[in-house]
Amino acid sequence: QAAISIRNVTKRYASAGRGDPGKLALDDISFDVPQGGIFGLLGPNGAGKSTLINILAGLVGKSSGAVSIWGFDIDNDRRNAKRAIGIVPQEIVFDPFFTPYEVLENQAGFYAVPKDDRRSHDLLSAVHLSDKANAYARTLSGGMKRRLLIAKAMVHSPPVLVLDEPTAGVDVDLRRQLWELVMRLNEEGVTIVLTTHYLEEAEQLCERIAIINHGRLIADTTTRDLIAMA
Ligand code: ADP
Ligand code: ADP
Repeated sequence: QAAISIRNVTKRYASAGRGDPGKLALDDISFDVPQGGIFGLLGPNGAGKSTLINILAGLVGKSSGAVSIWGFDIDNDRRNAKRAIGIVPQEIVFDPFFTPYEVLENQAGFYAVPKDDRRSHDLLSAVHLSDKANAYARTLSGGMKRRLLIAKAMVHSPPVLVLDEPTAGVDVDLRRQLWELVMRLNEEGVTIVLTTHYLEEAEQLCERIAIINHGRLIADTTTRDLIAMA
């Protein structure tokens, strides 16, 4: 069974008015993300990557097609599908007066994770933020906030973690740090999906790569075969 299965997914955004058919952001996309690896979703700006992630996150409805996460259909089994995935969004949004510890505890509350099963301190330690557990989020550096976002997405222990452009606009040191974190989570058994528009990043991290362009799937293969073709 695939970690994520995407079948004939099309997304057309609503029309802006008469004569506008609405933007076709995804055009009949199908692929599987196998369990256990690091999967790269590659494509230039405007390709449809965020649209696809937002569909997985349940934030955007698809126009047609079927998606399942860990075997749970996102339409018929929305609750289980949502629990099977953690999403690390591109934009950093934290209440500036919340501490990292509070951010994680709130998220655990949102997922109704029982007190005894919470692991906020372990998660903070995993992303090297233990010493900032009680600092206001507004005092964290950009890199710390990105690491906190990853911890937040792991609060409910999902088997699949999706990162939307995790290293866009970050410096070389932070990029290395984030790569190491992603690889460590993967070694611990989490299936990873990341979007990027850096081919080099996908080549370094991912076993498989899917490429979308103008809403169409133009490749879905192993990184090794992709490099051999180039
Ligand atoms: P990417 O993440 O690969 O940059 P997006 O999924 O953000 O691509 O965008 C795909 C296409 O859909 C783009 O042409 C974009 O302008 C359009 N689009 C994205 N969001 C919306 C929206 N809410 N309404 C209308 N068009 C949108
Ligand atoms: P709902 O659709 O159940 O109302 P939302 O999608 O509005 O939930 O999400 C509420 C909060 O939980 C937001 O902070 C959102 O970013 C976060 N969130 C939702 N789903 C996930 C997820 N799978 N991983 C991480 N954070 C999530």
